[in-house]
Amino acid sequence: MEKLQIGSAVAEPGSRAHGYLDVASYNDGLPVQTPVIIVHGAKPGPKLWAQGCIHGDEFCGTLGILKICRELDPAKMAGSFIGLPALNITAFRSSQRFSPYSYFGVPDLNRVFPGKANGNFNEIMASNIFETVQKQADFMIDFHCGHNAETRWTLYNEDGSEEAKKSMELAKAFGIEIIYPCDYPVLQNAMFTQASNKGIPGIIVESGGGGELATEEAVNTVAEGLANMLKYVGVLEEPCQLKDQYIILKAWDWMLAPHGGRFAPTVKINDTIEKDQIIARVYTLFDEELEPIRSPLNGLVLTVNKKPFVSAGDSIFQMGTPA
Ligand SMILES: [Zn+2]
Repeated sequence: MEKLQIGSAVAEPGSRAHGYLDVASYNDGLPVQTPVIIVHGAKPGPKLWAQGCIHGDEFCGTLGILKICRELDPAKMAGSFIGLPALNITAFRSSQRFSPYSYFGVPDLNRVFPGKANGNFNEIMASNIFETVQKQADFMIDFHCGHNAETRWTLYNEDGSEEAKKSMELAKAFGIEIIYPCDYPVLQNAMFTQASNKGIPGIIVESGGGGELATEEAVNTVAEGLANMLKYVGVLEEPCQLKDQYIILKAWDWMLAPHGGRFAPTVKINDTIEKDQIIARVYTLFDEELEPIRSPLNGLVLTVNKKPFVSAGDSIFQMGTPA
């Protein structure tokens, strides 16, 4: 058994360690360092990479990673857990979705993988992170939040590959009932898609809401799901508990506001909706009603924006159609 090193974190077999991975550099010449926690099992086995806050204000993953790291006993593990609780560290420090340093190019870190060593700030970060994940991870999981504390669903890249099959099994093992086999073009340069293309099965979990909506229940969902995945891949000895049934989505949409105004949704999370049904009304500040917003599909409401006012182009709903 060998020690496991990621950045400055070095763990001997059967122990835990923490440190930092250098992923870019600041304008004062100092490195941008993302925190790494390693729980390295006493026996060899697979390595699960889990990351929170690739979007810097989505804290459920961060808190769930910290919780499972407290609970894991490396002496009883065959394999390792690698936790990056605040992956997009400059965004996390600003409590905002995107890094304040990503002014040039695409601002969303989860749209630029596999990155570019000589690219812009986000591409350099992505390149360093992706190189490390390829060296160190057998499986990966990326935590996000929807608009609501009750948001619970997972997705993986569905391209008919062996990795897609394994990713679906990981999603089932994580234990959230709603699973989306994703072929959404916008997510082609997301980390989970690119990892899967390189032979590392991976999933995204949407649990809880952004900002202050990281409830204890949402954080527990993350920590319990991670424990279940570690059982499924054999790092923990106990048997993995699978659900009796899952809701697999055949279609999904991420709806952006066609126009801005006071936003008054007429549906709530988990409601069943029909195509063209009015799902929100929108008003000016003089209470004049604008064109109502209609559902683009038959299906389920997955998230609803809680903000009283939205601008054109804001994300207002996520919805999916069960297969
Ligand atoms: Zn996110």
